[in-house]
Amino acid sequence: MRIVSLVGNRPQFVKAAPLCQALRAEGEEILVHSGQHYDPDLADLFFDELGIPAPDHSLAVGPGSPLHQLTIMMERLEPVLADTQPDALLVYGDTTTTLAGALVAAKMDVPLAHVEAGLRSFDKRMPEEQNRVITDHLSDVLLCPTQQAIDNLAREGVTKGVHLVGDVMYDACRAFAALAATQPGAVGRGLEPGGYVLVTIHRAAATDTPEALSAMVEVLTSLGAPAIFPVHPRTRAKLEAAGRWDELQNVPGLIMARPAGYLDFTALLMQAQAVITDSGGVQKEAYFHGIPCITLRDTTEWVETVDGGFNRLTGMDAAKVAEAMADLSMPDERPQYYGDGHAADAIVRALVTELG
Ligand code: UDP
Repeated sequence: MRIVSLVGNRPQFVKAAPLCQALRAEGEEILVHSGQHYDPDLADLFFDELGIPAPDHSLAVGPGSPLHQLTIMMERLEPVLADTQPDALLVYGDTTTTLAGALVAAKMDVPLAHVEAGLRSFDKRMPEEQNRVITDHLSDVLLCPTQQAIDNLAREGVTKGVHLVGDVMYDACRAFAALAATQPGAVGRGLEPGGYVLVTIHRAAATDTPEALSAMVEVLTSLGAPAIFPVHPRTRAKLEAAGRWDELQNVPGLIMARPAGYLDFTALLMQAQAVITDSGGVQKEAYFHGIPCITLRDTTEWVETVDGGFNRLTGMDAAKVAEAMADLSMPDERPQYYGDGHAADAIVRALVTELG
């Protein structure tokens, strides 16, 4: 079995770490890096610390609007698939890279496998929702992390090639938690373990209008607890362009930091009192580590965490965040919503079944 895997941004590197190993134990993997995340803090560091093999091909898409990046990636991926003739192209998640891969595979009649298939926020304005719906409908092998994802696909009439495999982020979490625990984390930054919140914000909805940026600044300036925010370069650029960056530098108790590597970030997460985020992956990681999560969105794909009482949806609303911070209680038992931590093996088995 020869698989071309396409990755391009931070969460995809995390998901690829366990899967690259499992794929290479079974057959041949050719790794393609689209270059969607080109900032070294979001890319190179992850390959090094997660032991991801060096990419065999780099599409080097670089900066630009999502549409610009999409067209360049498609143009540069076509010859790679033509040369390598894989049994399938494997894509992850819901990014521009994912969509580029899906469209090229479909047009070239290369079977398409989608990791994290079937997730829905039911908010079509989200670029991620557009990307994942189109990708699912073009996929031949749909690798679902949860039963909810399978049910979502069934409602859209997608039932062929669908497999429940669990979540590869849980595999990564289990593989790297012990190493992460040895990182400086909170203590290395003068924060008291259990006495601070970890913040991440990067979605377009939070950064792309002056009103959204004002709401973000209000949340950040009224947290009422020590906080560390490893700032995504995109968020920083938007705050700077809007002239809102400087006012966040001297907020008492708030550390505006560089993006953290995965191990360092995991260390910060494991010791936090709570996580406040608009990230998809971080909501799940909070759950894996038993840390209360406050999600700065009105919807989530990870509904189990909300229904189970582990995650609160507040939108970008300082008053609702304060309300959620006042009660961070969590149920004692954490069900295995995301499988048993062997999703990568289950994915390889599903690929072998579907592709022969
Ligand atoms: N992450 C990281 N450093 C940070 C912030 C996040 O390593 O400073 C990791 C985090 O542990 C998770 C992934 O990046 O594995 C989530 O990526 P992101 O929030 O950028 O994307 P999303 O999950 O929202 O698609």
